[in-house]
Order: sequence, then C-alpha cells, then structure tokens
Amino acid sequence: MSLPLAPSYDVVVVGSGPTGSTYVREVFERRPDARILLLEAGPKLGDPPGGHVKNIDGDEPRARAQRASEGPAPAAPGRPGTRLLGTPDLPAAAISTNVGGMGAHWTAACPRPGDSERIPCVPDAEMDRHLTRAEELLHVTSHAFDRAPFADVVRQRLAARFDAGRPVSRRVAPMPLAVTTRPDGTHAWSGTDVILGPAAADPRVELADTCLCLRVLHDAGTVTGVAVRDLNSGRETTVTAAAVVVAADALRTPQVLHASGIRPAALGRYLNDQPQIVHAVRLPDDVVAAHDEVTGRTREDDGGIVPQSGVSWVPFTDEHPFHGQVMQLDASPVALADEDTVRPGSIVGLGWFCAKDLDPEDRVTFSDTETDAFGMPRIGIRYRCTDRDLATIEAARNAVAEAGAALGDPLGGEPFLLPAGSSLHYQGTTRMGPADDGTSVCDSHSRVWGTEGLWVAGNGVIPTATACNPTLTSVALASRGAHALAEQLPRRTVATAAPTAG
Ligand code: FAD
Repeated sequence: MSLPLAPSYDVVVVGSGPTGSTYVREVFERRPDARILLLEAGPKLGDPPGGHVKNIDGDEPRARAQRASEGPAPAAPGRPGTRLLGTPDLPAAAISTNVGGMGAHWTAACPRPGDSERIPCVPDAEMDRHLTRAEELLHVTSHAFDRAPFADVVRQRLAARFDAGRPVSRRVAPMPLAVTTRPDGTHAWSGTDVILGPAAADPRVELADTCLCLRVLHDAGTVTGVAVRDLNSGRETTVTAAAVVVAADALRTPQVLHASGIRPAALGRYLNDQPQIVHAVRLPDDVVAAHDEVTGRTREDDGGIVPQSGVSWVPFTDEHPFHGQVMQLDASPVALADEDTVRPGSIVGLGWFCAKDLDPEDRVTFSDTETDAFGMPRIGIRYRCTDRDLATIEAARNAVAEAGAALGDPLGGEPFLLPAGSSLHYQGTTRMGPADDGTSVCDSHSRVWGTEGLWVAGNGVIPTATACNPTLTSVALASRGAHALAEQLPRRTVATAAPTAG
C-alpha cells in the first residue's frame, strides 16, 4: 500500500488484529453507508490478508511470514512472529507488526471468562450475547480435536481431580479453539481473514498496510481524523474521519493516544500480564496401553495434532483461580531418549495462567525524547509482583503439580514460572469503567472519556484481572463497542463513491 489515501472516511480503524478487524466487520454489516479505512503498520503476509501463518504451506514461506511480522531489523527474537520490546521488568513482552497482528500467530484458544474475570460494568446477559458473537466471528469450536489420541483419558483424569463442586459450564472440557476442520481432516486456523469475512473484499473497506498511524487528530474534544506515515515512502498525510478506533494492542494503543496528546489519568496504568507456570508429564505406560487399543490411531490418522494445540481446559473459578491449558504434544518439550517410540498424544504439556494483582503503578510509559523502531514514543514498562502475586504463583505451582500427578509421570522436573510477559496477554492499559473517575480510560462501550468519536479496542480495554486467554473477551467487547459506534455514526446525506486505492 502506498499513499495517497482518500481524504475522508467515516471510520478509521488503527490496527488490523482481531479487535480492529471486529470493528471493521461489525460497522460494515450495520452501516451499509459507511466507508472504512483499516490502517496497519505491518505488511500483508500472504493471501488472504490476515490469514494465520499456520495455514501457510511450507516451513520456509511460513518462517518468512513470521520474520516479516517482527518489524524493522534489528529485532530481538521472541516467539516466532513477535519482536521483544527489551523491557527489563517484563522481559518477555513482545509485539507483532503485520496484517492480522498477533491474530496471525496465535494458538487460538478461546475460553470464556468466568467468576471474577467477568466485567462488572457490562451486564452479564449482554456480555454473553457478545461472547457468542465473538465465537461466531472467530469460528470457535470445541470439537476440532475430538479425535486427538488420549484426550478423553486426559480429561477424565483432570475432571476427577478438579470438577467437584463446579457448575457444568466451568468443568474440565475440550478447549474451545478458533479453528475449522477441513473436509480432509486438516485444520484451518482462524486469523483476521475469518473475522473480516465479506468486508475484506468490499470496496467500502480499504486496508492500508505498512501505514503507521502517527496521531489521532482532534479539535475541541472531538476526533477529526488521523495523521499517517507510509512506511515505504516516508510520506505523511492526514485523513478526516467521524470516528477513530485505536486497536493497536495493549502497549501501542496507549502509545498512539499519548502521541496524540490524549492522556486520561489511567492511560497505560493497571498493566497486567498473566504469570504462567508450565509443566510436562508423560502418561503412564499402562494407561497408554489400555487406551491405545481404544484409540488405535497413528499421528497421520488424527489429522496431525499440532504441537502446542491447547486441547483441554481446566476453567478459572474463584475457588481455583487459574486457567489451565492442557496440550498434548507430538514432541516432548524435554528431549527423550526413545522419542521415536513415544505414542502421539502421550506427552502432555500443562500451562497454568494466573490472574495478576491489579496495581495502577504497573504501567507502560512513553518517552518524550526517545523513539522506537517505528519513530513512535519509546515504550518503557514498570512492573512488579506483589506479595499476593507471589502467593498466587506458589498456589498455581502446587495446582499444576497436582494436575500433573493426576495425569502421569513428571518430565523434566518441577513446574516452573516462565519469564514475565511470556503469556503475551497484556491487559488493562486502556481499561473500561463505569465512570470517568481517573481509574479508567473508556466507558463500557469502549468510548474514550473526554474525546468524542474515539474508541479503543484490544486486551487493554479489559478491566478485570483475567487468567484465561483474553482474545475472545476483547473481541466480544469490540463487538459491543462497534454496535455503539454504528449507532452513533452520523448518516451520510449524499452518497459518495468508494475511495480509490493508491
Ligand atoms: P494485535 O493482534 O496485537 O494487533 C494490533 C495491530 O496493531 C498490530 O498488527 C500492529 O502492527 C498494529 N499497530 C500497532 N501500532 C500501530 C500504529 N501506530 N499504526 C498502525 N497499526 C499499528 N490469545 C488468546 O486469546 N488465545 C491464544 O491461544 C493465544 N495464543 C497466542 C499465541 C501467540 C504465539 C501469540 C503471539 C499470541 C497469542 N494470543 C492468544 C494473543 C492474541 O493473539 C492477542 O490477544 C490478540 O491478537 C490481540 O488482538 P488485538 O487486535 O488487540 O491486537
């Protein structure tokens, strides 16, 4: 994509990840008169734009797409497709810069939030409706790995340990995943191509990749448009818009607002990530032998259960305040002498995510003198574990050890804590709240306090300390915000032609 863009749009969405794409899709469907510009700092990775990299055939093309998502060189390597920010307090903090955002690289686990993870300022029934819509937009199913070897016995054993006293909706279950099983049994992972659906090919929607939003423009407390830099040519321009949605992830959405001089007191504060404890076990030989006859299948028969697919779920509850993601791995995370003889699915990886103690002093900050690789205010992070966090982490370590003991024999020693930021689930930095009282950035429809026409989206909007993977929740909140936007957007009195792409 290169400039020029059309001079004016109804809605500009900044950031093409799952939440920005949700705004595009929802406004596209609800307002057939609206022209929408989707601005994305990163490149398209392939066709369709926003498609998940796991759907790309071939190791080398997939690795190229992952490298293209890491932003300008030199980038410290994080998980494939991400760039480490290099912030000592949150050493594993990382971002993705590409069409589709992290949604082109994610594991696609889509659990619903429960108990204290739920958002008090959004009525429960309404939240459930939007969660259902989010599941539709992401093509979520709990049945993609029904045939995974040993999944049943893993769930039976976890249920025996964790289900007592839980309501049906919070019992051990297959992990809901954003994935479609193709007729040949292979899997298509949902990226933002799936969320955009028909909006992607419609001339009313324009995707401008490698275009960085420098600032949101505003006048007298009302949004007027955005300033944009074409990262290929360096040219800059402005476009006007009636509404702007900033969906640039939980670290860069506050960066764009900061650069725009829009700085509510809570901007960047209440940053929370989910401490993650991991462990691995091997199902005992007698269990494998007993259930092998039942499964009797090979890796190929099972459509290639992929490494790091979360296939089972121990839901968060207030009594068990951890989100358990259980993965059956083709390959052990620990080198095994007899790797060739290991039955697929018999090595089980356990990841227990914790909810962080919320603290306004945990925050992302921005330099007024230094810039990042994109020329935006340099990000700094201040982040601490409280005593309560240390106790939570200890309790999670015990819970995951118990889960492991219920399943089999430990591999590679005791459960251990991953470096802070590893979950990639950064939240709270543009949190929603019921009132403009300095503890939130936006209202429960994601409208930024004090700036008419400005919405924020992404995990940063989630105000509670969640332990579950947050994307389903933030897509649901994006759907809710988009419905409000579609209602509020001024109606065009004169039809205008669709913009021409430059
Ligand atoms: P993002 O997807 O991060 O997209 C933000 C976009 O904004 C980026 O493309 C970025 O380039 C763009 N942008 C930033 N600044 C600007 C600017 N100034 N101008 C223009 N564009 C800009 N979550 C789950 O719920 N379940 C999982 O199983 C899961 N697994 C994961 C596994 C991996 C390996 C990774 C990397 C992530 C995983 N996540 C998971 C996290 C999930 O991908 C994110 O929660 C989700 O993508 C957030 O969506 P988003 O739209 O808010 O932001």
